[in-house]
Amino acid sequence: MINNAVLAQLRAIVGEEHVLTDERALLQQSKDFYWFSPVLKTLLEDKRADVMVRPGTVDELLAVIRLAVRQRIPITARGAGTGNYGQGIPIHGGILLNLKRLDQILEVTADAMRVQAGTLLIDMEQAARNVGLELRFFPSTIQTATAGGFVAGGAGGIGSVTWGTLWDDDNVRAATVVTIEEDPQILTIDHADALRGVIHNCGLTSIILDCTLALAPAQPWAQYVVAFDNFTDALRCAEDLAFDDSQANRLVTALEWPIPSYFRQLVKDGACPEGKAVLLLHVVCDEAMLAAKVSSYGGGITWRSPHENYLRSGWQLSDFSWNHTTLWAMKTDPSLTYLQDMFLPDKVYEQLAQRKARYGDMVLEHVEFMKFGGRLVPQGLTLVRFQSPEQLAELMTWCESIGIWIANPHTHFLDEDVRWNGQPILDARARWDPHGLLNPGHLKAVE
Ligand SMILES: Cc1cc2nc3c(=O)[nH]c(=O)nc-3n(C[C@H](O)[C@H](O)[C@H](O)COP(=O)(O)OP(=O)(O)OC[C@H]3O[C@@H](n4cnc5c(N)ncnc54)[C@H](O)[C@@H]3O)c2cc1C
Repeated sequence: MINNAVLAQLRAIVGEEHVLTDERALLQQSKDFYWFSPVLKTLLEDKRADVMVRPGTVDELLAVIRLAVRQRIPITARGAGTGNYGQGIPIHGGILLNLKRLDQILEVTADAMRVQAGTLLIDMEQAARNVGLELRFFPSTIQTATAGGFVAGGAGGIGSVTWGTLWDDDNVRAATVVTIEEDPQILTIDHADALRGVIHNCGLTSIILDCTLALAPAQPWAQYVVAFDNFTDALRCAEDLAFDDSQANRLVTALEWPIPSYFRQLVKDGACPEGKAVLLLHVVCDEAMLAAKVSSYGGGITWRSPHENYLRSGWQLSDFSWNHTTLWAMKTDPSLTYLQDMFLPDKVYEQLAQRKARYGDMVLEHVEFMKFGGRLVPQGLTLVRFQSPEQLAELMTWCESIGIWIANPHTHFLDEDVRWNGQPILDARARWDPHGLLNPGHLKAVE
């Protein structure tokens, strides 16, 4: 399908140095963090694109799409490749369309920023902070992930405790997308209903050219680690802090021991005492009041970083939160994997106790507080000691049987994920990608 004539045309469009054909490099470039799941690791290990192309202008991008459609070559979009369910791995080869050279900040207004898809989130955050604004929320991969990859493949993260997810509250204002046709159209999507065909589409409906994300006024975030004798006290304190409207919150993370022991840098700094559960906080508050509150739950502040250091020191506490917790854990103990789960706010302690009683140390608790559909909820990124795919399946089924909601991170099929937008994605795909060339192999319904 990709013969020498096609390669020559791709080289003519984007330039020799932006066409990658080396097989080993392609195998590596075609991957994301699918290996977080031992199930996906086995399934997707050998999958790769036939060629990676890096357009540097919109015209080059359109020319690549025209060529691919004429030749009926699959196209898989790629930002930074930090997705963690294999959604960005080309299952049927074809062109890996790397968008990182399209990285211009196009417009900053009083409450939003429009950027090309390949713009790094950290560059957005820094540009916003230069004018007294900040991203409402971002994934813990802020240093490497792109805006387009976040809108197409992400959900929420640091800041979601206040602002919710990509689906909530006007967080994604608009996107410009390219359709996959002989004569590609460039469409501006700015209506909430139509955006459901773009948000978390995992590159299955269109290529996002640029997107407009809402911003918030910048806050003087301070960072704290707080330690507790047990996880329940830590979680109760986290809940109290997350629900406290009198202080601004960007990160409220609760971690059971031994998870804090996986954070080498924090351990070295004395932030994670042996045997203690911890909270990781990005907050704006009076420190004396914070200390009093955490002490009422039996906790004590073990580490702090003032707001002057925010995003200036080498690392932030958020580098240990969300799925970075999983990354640090798996680096230390490769037998670990994870679940993405959500607890019922009024039953979370009961659900956690039931699970601990049944599974013991096979599960290690990691809870992030976030808004979901306007409601503040405890969401888990639970670490699991992996034994077999059957054990994982049994655990997820059992969790669901007691009302813990599971977003299965062990499938690469978008329509097996609870974040699946359903019909709007199918409709958008039918309209904008009539030949089904975008990222084929990730929809169970059309396998
Ligand atoms: C350690 C770790 C921590 C993480 N933490 C979080 C977190 O806190 N919150 C969160 O939501 N996610 C998190 N993720 C997942 C991921 O980092 C984010 O979703 C990130 O924003 C993806 O950006 P990316 O540029 O790497 O996208 P990629 O991985 O390159 O792409 C993601 C998906 O979007 C598609 N895509 C990429 N660009 C485009 C485009 N321009 N048009 C159409 N489709 C496109 C790809 O085909 C793929 O399906 C984490 C992942 C890891 C490994």
